[in-house]
Amino acid sequence: MPGFDKIVGHEQIKEHFRNAVQTGKVSHAYILSGEAGMGRKSLASAFALSLLCEKGMAEPCMQCHACRQALSGNHPDLIYVTHEKPASIGVDDIREQINDTIMVRPYSSYYKIYIVDEAEKMTVQAQNALLKTIEEPPSYGVILLLTTNPEGFLPTILSRCVQLKLKPLKDEVVKEYLIQSLGVEESQAEIYAAFARGNLGKAIHLADSEEFKQMYHEILHLLKHLKDTDISELLDYIRKLKDEKMDIYGCLDFMQMWYRDVLMYKTTKDINLLIFKDEFSSIKSMSTLSGYDGLERILVAIDKARVRLDAM
Ligand SMILES: [Zn+2]
Repeated sequence: MPGFDKIVGHEQIKEHFRNAVQTGKVSHAYILSGEAGMGRKSLASAFALSLLCEKGMAEPCMQCHACRQALSGNHPDLIYVTHEKPASIGVDDIREQINDTIMVRPYSSYYKIYIVDEAEKMTVQAQNALLKTIEEPPSYGVILLLTTNPEGFLPTILSRCVQLKLKPLKDEVVKEYLIQSLGVEESQAEIYAAFARGNLGKAIHLADSEEFKQMYHEILHLLKHLKDTDISELLDYIRKLKDEKMDIYGCLDFMQMWYRDVLMYKTTKDINLLIFKDEFSSIKSMSTLSGYDGLERILVAIDKARVRLDAM
């Protein structure tokens, strides 16, 4: 559970929360949306911490009684809403954990904060139950809905919440974090960052994943030995990967990045623009052997493969 200062990126959202804490203009309901791994939970926790902190500063002190209680998961005014069924948050979950308790004044803080993770799993009935509370909340009530998909919410919920959307971080920021904080080698960090597409949690996961390393080596081997740009061979291989239950989307991403590198080098002759700098010699020779048309065709074929997979 970090403070804002330990969270990488998301400056606008941090600024919004810090302002709210300092001015006391705190809304009763927020939606934090973004892919898994992007940092919704960290941001929500940091906001809750700074609302509960006895110092009342924009950044939680991490030392006062309230901070320590929150950090150990024992603050009575910070409630993490749970759900029985893995696939859905039902009306009873919302009633019992939010509606029935929110009228009880906070024990020790000015605020009483509810965090609902995976809020997109709320059933329509659950959302309607929550709506009653959001429509007439007590002055101290703050509800944070965390979601990967805000489109699953009723328009009436959306219109009553402050919506904050997490944006992907710049590859450069992700790469620097991997190098500085995790000690990942620069050339590898660049590849993880490219794959993670601005999702820091995903990048951290990839840097530690044996499965990813295995996929990486297999595909690299394939791409390096695919002498001429033979699309049917490539597609056969993709089918094989699917049968072996590999992360097929990850494989397609890989191939796409690889051929983009080849195309990039063919066009610019600039090694610094490549993701796979360690494979420079393969990229270079491939860029000499392949024509623009062939490379474009491959990139299109990979896109098509992805569309077909989505449709399956
Ligand atoms: Zn504190």
